[in-house]
Amino acid sequence: MQTHNLGYPRIGNQRTLKKANEAYWAGKIKAHELQQTARTIRLFNWQLQKDAGIDWIPCNDFSFYDHVLDTCLMTGAIPERFHELIVNKQITNPDLGFAMARGFQEDGYDITAMEMTKWFDTNYHYIVPEFKAGQQFSFFHNKVVNEFAEAKREGFNAKPVLLGPVSFLLLGKEKEDGFNKLDLIHNLLPVYFEALQQLDDNGAYFIQFDEPCLSLNLSQAERAVFTKTYNAIKTRFPNLQVILANYFECYGDNLQTALQLPVHTLHLDLVRCPLQLDDILTAEFAKSKIHVSLGVVDGRNVWKNDFEQSLSLIQKAINKIGKDRLWIAPSCSLLHSPCDLHFEQKLNPEIKQWLAFAKQKLDEVVTLKQLAEGDKTEALHHKLQENINAGKSRKTSTLIHNEEVRQRMAAITEADAKRNNPFSIRKEKQHAALRLPLFATTTIGSFPQTKEVRSWRAKWKKKELSDDAYNALLKAETEKAVRWQEEIDMDVLVHGEFERNDMVEYFGEQLAGFAFTENGWVQSYGSRCVKPPIIYGDVYRPKPMTVEWSGYAQSLTKKYMKGMLTGPVTILQWSFVRNDQPRRETCTQIALAIRDEVKDLEKAGIKIIQIDEPAIREGLPLRKENWQQYLDWAVRAFRIASSGVSDETQIHTHMCYSEFNDIIENIAAMDADVITIETSRSQMELLNAFADFKYPNEIGPGVYDIHSPRVPSKEEMVLLMEKAKAVIPSDQLWVNPDCGLKTRGWEETKSALIEMVNAAKALRAAVGETV
Ligand SMILES: [Zn+2]
Repeated sequence: MQTHNLGYPRIGNQRTLKKANEAYWAGKIKAHELQQTARTIRLFNWQLQKDAGIDWIPCNDFSFYDHVLDTCLMTGAIPERFHELIVNKQITNPDLGFAMARGFQEDGYDITAMEMTKWFDTNYHYIVPEFKAGQQFSFFHNKVVNEFAEAKREGFNAKPVLLGPVSFLLLGKEKEDGFNKLDLIHNLLPVYFEALQQLDDNGAYFIQFDEPCLSLNLSQAERAVFTKTYNAIKTRFPNLQVILANYFECYGDNLQTALQLPVHTLHLDLVRCPLQLDDILTAEFAKSKIHVSLGVVDGRNVWKNDFEQSLSLIQKAINKIGKDRLWIAPSCSLLHSPCDLHFEQKLNPEIKQWLAFAKQKLDEVVTLKQLAEGDKTEALHHKLQENINAGKSRKTSTLIHNEEVRQRMAAITEADAKRNNPFSIRKEKQHAALRLPLFATTTIGSFPQTKEVRSWRAKWKKKELSDDAYNALLKAETEKAVRWQEEIDMDVLVHGEFERNDMVEYFGEQLAGFAFTENGWVQSYGSRCVKPPIIYGDVYRPKPMTVEWSGYAQSLTKKYMKGMLTGPVTILQWSFVRNDQPRRETCTQIALAIRDEVKDLEKAGIKIIQIDEPAIREGLPLRKENWQQYLDWAVRAFRIASSGVSDETQIHTHMCYSEFNDIIENIAAMDADVITIETSRSQMELLNAFADFKYPNEIGPGVYDIHSPRVPSKEEMVLLMEKAKAVIPSDQLWVNPDCGLKTRGWEETKSALIEMVNAAKALRAAVGETV
């Protein structure tokens, strides 16, 4: 039996990479210093995995920004607009990758960034490859070879990890009509061959190909491309041993295809899909030579592995095909796990004993192998006993189970999930009450969290700043933001959320049932990391969470102040969720807590309340046959959260990076009065779904991309809104940025929002409305 790991967090234990990247972008460190930091992280990770006893250690799982972007660079899939940087500026890596991910606006260049989207059903974002008909590829960047050589030189038993060519194509976007991106496989494969040749020359043995698209619904033609591709790889490189990694779901309908591929090992995500083991380990499979990688340790969550349960799965596999064809592994790359539980000094020890982060998961993988092999040492027996005891303590802990929550859950009625009247009636009442102009302007909620603001919070947390002093600073900052919005004539104001660390953490900290880590960071995109709360027990709201800040902000102005909340699905989706009850139950508990908050905001005189649900779509199961069940409970949770208010109170929601085509009916069923969405990067393409569906409620399509420091012009935004107007009636449209402005600087934010307000005014003038 062998152990391996599919990927390790690349951010470094103390978010080292984030800090280095940002220092580099700000010109504070030089390229060689950034490279040195990267090398230190790689070596540290490899050593850690070796020390844990992992037999085969991944390399090329490191990335300065994103592994899909790295695959674009490897294969020369560099959109034409960046070519002038290569030709004229001789830009090289990592700068070219940064330019592709973040856009490039220096020295007179103005090049927009590539699109970004969610990596399957995770909260990690990847850079979306761009493909054109007949596109040619070239072996442009040999990072994978360098990192393999580096690992080998340093004495590690390294296994290069590549995003498989088929998933790479499937994850990309066709930038023109009239071709199928999978047809590009013929042009793409030779580039993979070049990489494999160099890896082969450098002595690589196992190659891990990540093909997570095998967890999706695929057509027969798409499956055929997998077959052709891996046959071609085998023919060309008979000695390279391919580990094919699928994760996040079963192989499902793709299983027969996967079983026919000439690979050394098939990896199975047995956390998401334990039942597939029976489908795979048939008598026929036992006769084959394929090895199986049992992904029994959850790479997506923070709970300690249940050793007894994992051992029963491993034993089942041993019985069918014997030990020698088995690998033990995490379910997927540990990219989605925080680094190391040892850094958590403040966690309640009762909760801490239930947890395992990336480093601890490696130990679990190795321990499971030793237990499965029948090692009988004292230390090992002790580990097993400790694991069993932790599991028992979780089942009975009074920290987890709350009787009042249980009763309230049982008492929910259909009326609780419905507004008093349909939107057509609410709309009239809201227009009469609010009297907002056409093309009303607003922002998504957060304003820049400057270094200063963050330093106040840090000092306050360290008790270097009293509650009063901290609040006074936040109040002053809030007032400044309010005055400035009044000054530029924004229609619906926000208070800026300076008091909030993160849109989920802020609520979790005030809800019962949530625990927080000091250092449990995971990468979200590029240098951005998030620290998801851990939902360990029944959720309820002990007291109001946002009423004081929203009320204060509203008291400063005669304009409308939007109350800002995070929705139940997003809080669920962006947290580590308990695995001892169905997700929908946890979600409904959160919905009841948010409902209480919405009602309290209304009572405090807030007329417009936004409940952000950016994560609704990413919660979709990967296979379509499971969608409706999820959507039913997710939409219901939003409605429970939002339906406790009067018709006049306007409920907004916000979503980012969503494609709506396939779920538009469910988005409509959420029945928010106004929805703001991410549209600018796709040039309003996303709006088509709303137009085709004749979406009845109001919409704010984002008019500029906040993920780039680029300041767009008023004309550009008017042009985007003209596109929106062409498909959505003007009286349904709002004008707003794509997303919150928390990560931006004030200077660019101010410039962009002034342009935006002027764009709205120009639009009004064009239809003859003045305000
Ligand atoms: Zn957003």
